[in-house]
Amino acid sequence: MLSTYKTSLSKKSQLNSNTYLYHFDLIEPKEIIFKPGQYVMLKVPSINGPVSRLYSIASPNNIKNSFELIVEIVPCGLASNYLFSLKENSEVTFQGPAGMFGLKKNKRDKIFMVTGTGIAPVRSMVISNFKFLISKEIPNSKLQIYWGMKNYKDIYLLDELKQLNNETMKQFEFKICLSREQNLDIIPEEDRKYFELGHVNSCFDQHIENCKLKIENLDYYLCGGRQVVESLKQFLLIKNISQENIMFEKF
Ligand SMILES: Cc1cc2nc3c(=O)[nH]c(=O)nc-3n(C[C@H](O)[C@H](O)[C@H](O)COP(=O)(O)OP(=O)(O)OC[C@H]3O[C@@H](n4cnc5c(N)ncnc54)[C@H](O)[C@@H]3O)c2cc1C
Repeated sequence: MLSTYKTSLSKKSQLNSNTYLYHFDLIEPKEIIFKPGQYVMLKVPSINGPVSRLYSIASPNNIKNSFELIVEIVPCGLASNYLFSLKENSEVTFQGPAGMFGLKKNKRDKIFMVTGTGIAPVRSMVISNFKFLISKEIPNSKLQIYWGMKNYKDIYLLDELKQLNNETMKQFEFKICLSREQNLDIIPEEDRKYFELGHVNSCFDQHIENCKLKIENLDYYLCGGRQVVESLKQFLLIKNISQENIMFEKF
């Protein structure tokens, strides 16, 4: 059963030229219970009545009185125009939560392959489950994010990812795969180890070889634009990864 949530936009922060982090406080009901990886349906007012657009919750599920979204503003998009013009303290309606994308709580090592705002549900899944994922129960468990972006100037959440990386003994790692940079010279030297040139699939191929992980023993979580997710899925299937170990959300 979907619930309707009356919320107030408490903060809007620009992450890069066309991506924003929206923080909504719940007005009524006062709490939202969701599984990390799920989405909410934004009700966009239009002359023909409200229109729905789906957005993955980007915040962890232990925070119940508010939630965050990471949204790319696309040119001439209905929801994009609405969200772009939205002022702090505006009232906004959502329905949800919904969706089946979520972490399988098992002992298998996990690979996340995402592009752009596909990082949103993964951020929720990783932060919500971080203690479990790196718990003593599974002492050598590995969790890797491969995040595809075009240019270095597009990057956000870097400090947050670095902090998660620092909290573990290499159990949590991430690589940001820059598809439109020619080299890594503009990146401060101490951060270069977090970056690779190329697309997510080639970064994965390069990096996984050094990790001594058996690719068929891993669980894969894919998220991003429809075509990218489809091609990443094919990339994994060709490597004989079983379909049941590939979880995905197509935007
Ligand atoms: C399960 C799910 C979860 C999602 N979660 C997120 C999320 O966390 N963050 C997020 O930013 N989006 C997310 N999306 C995408 C989101 O629902 C909208 O489709 C997107 O924001 C565009 O909506 P719009 O109303 O602004 O554009 P529309 O009015 O639907 O489209 C307007 C025009 O823009 C084009 N267009 C649409 N999307 C894009 C694009 N990405 N790039 C270029 N052109 C485009 C369309 O082809 C069309 O011509 C998710 C989608 C799904 C299915």
